[in-house]
Amino acid sequence: MYDYLIVGAGLYGAVFAHEAKLAGKTCLVIDKRDHIAGNIYTESIDGIDVHRYGAHIFHTNNREVWNYVNQFANFNRYTNSPVANYHGELYNLPFNMNTFNKMWGVVTPAQAKEKIAQQVQEANIAQPKNLEEQAISLAGRDIYEKLVKGYTEKQWGRPCTELPAFIISRLPLRFTFDNNYFNALYQGIPNEGYTAMVERMLDGVEVRLGVDYLEDKANLDALADCVVYTGPIDAYFDFSLGYLEYRSVRFETEVLDTDNYQGNAVVNYTDRETPYTRIIEHKHFVFGTQPKTVISREYSSEWKPGDEPYYPVNDKRNGDLYQQYKVLADKESKVIFGGRLGEYKYYDMDKVIESALNKVRSVL
Ligand SMILES: Cc1cc2nc3c(=O)[nH]c(=O)nc-3n(C[C@H](O)[C@H](O)[C@H](O)COP(=O)(O)OP(=O)(O)OC[C@H]3O[C@@H](n4cnc5c(N)ncnc54)[C@H](O)[C@@H]3O)c2cc1C
Repeated sequence: MYDYLIVGAGLYGAVFAHEAKLAGKTCLVIDKRDHIAGNIYTESIDGIDVHRYGAHIFHTNNREVWNYVNQFANFNRYTNSPVANYHGELYNLPFNMNTFNKMWGVVTPAQAKEKIAQQVQEANIAQPKNLEEQAISLAGRDIYEKLVKGYTEKQWGRPCTELPAFIISRLPLRFTFDNNYFNALYQGIPNEGYTAMVERMLDGVEVRLGVDYLEDKANLDALADCVVYTGPIDAYFDFSLGYLEYRSVRFETEVLDTDNYQGNAVVNYTDRETPYTRIIEHKHFVFGTQPKTVISREYSSEWKPGDEPYYPVNDKRNGDLYQQYKVLADKESKVIFGGRLGEYKYYDMDKVIESALNKVRSVL
């Protein structure tokens, strides 16, 4: 018998297990995948740490969480400064004075503000009816055409004129020469990868991989007093109320025989014609000097049941359905539902750590 059966060896499960073990509890962690670390898993390909389930950049304003993760990993000084490629023209992101200078040749913040105000005025949109009108009324036509339109259409698989205006409530415009995307107090990438970080969290905890909880639920439940479930909440209830929907991403990863392919970890392709949304060059997250490089092209894709779930869909249907599953979950007195899938919520890593720490402290 264990005190806790923890379903999912991702960040939520690992933090919970670490804290429970420190408090003297016994834990069994299981995961249906053949590796730990969930979606923050990194694997070595040609000596380069590759983020298999999408690029993960740690950033937080929470000092406690920053100190917490630094127990398990040494973080480097990586600062996310993505670049946009529009038909071969390169722009700094987020939209800032470097972007405006490249776009219009303006030099001062006053000139940049004037240029944007002029384009917003020319468009003369009083009540934006769709995402296109919303973006133009916030940032003007040039920024919309070159940096928003194509990228957004690829992400959603629909023209911006058919997307609701509320998707973009604001477009952050920075009138300083600052390419630091997250602008967080603490930011970095673990030098040895996220998998090593999670491995240290799970040090001394029993982990069984390749075990699907839902396929052997009764026997596994019998092993512990309490279950911490970090898998999809709808799957737990056998989709009895219907499927919660996700947006998905497909990654095409390739090893290239060059030491530096694009000079930056993240390049967004903002034109409509390039089929992928981003190229990630993994070595630049840790300033790698290997003779080869590994890149991942990211394609936004429609999700269907059975696909890897990535981003929850924040619309009314899914929000309401989640609330109905939550009512059922609250009745499961032996089970804690946590993490991005258990709570059907987009959580950055710092937030998932915060949430797991709060939960484990409240139950211990
Ligand atoms: C594409 C993408 C990019 C992201 N980039 C960033 C970023 O740059 N910075 C940032 O802070 N955050 C980022 N995030 C968020 C980050 O991925 C999450 O905060 C984190 O992975 C959540 O951890 P988790 O433990 O809740 O979930 P997961 O990592 O998904 O772990 C859940 C685990 O449960 C297992 N499981 C599920 N069902 C079962 C079952 N039936 N039996 C056994 N095991 C099961 C799964 O295999 C999985 O390993 C990103 C997310 C996505 C989708």
